[in-house]
Amino acid sequence: MEKLVVTDSCIGCGLCVQSCEKYFEFNDDGFSQVKQEVVDEEDKKELLNLVESCPGQAILIEEEKEA
Ligand code: SF4
Repeated sequence: MEKLVVTDSCIGCGLCVQSCEKYFEFNDDGFSQVKQEVVDEEDKKELLNLVESCPGQAILIEEEKEA
């Protein structure tokens, strides 16, 4: 299973929130936070594009071992 992470290097540009509301939302401080953690296979390509485009390099997709 893969897990979406937004680190604290987010600069709050809003790109991910605007382009992918399913996975990202703004927190109270105006930075991005993850709305849906689990990466659905069909969305992976779009999310990888965002990983590339994020100006703060704050978006990560991490492999999570299943118990
Ligand atoms: S694209 Fe990156 S820098 Fe911009 S709001 Fe999303 S996580 Fe933050």
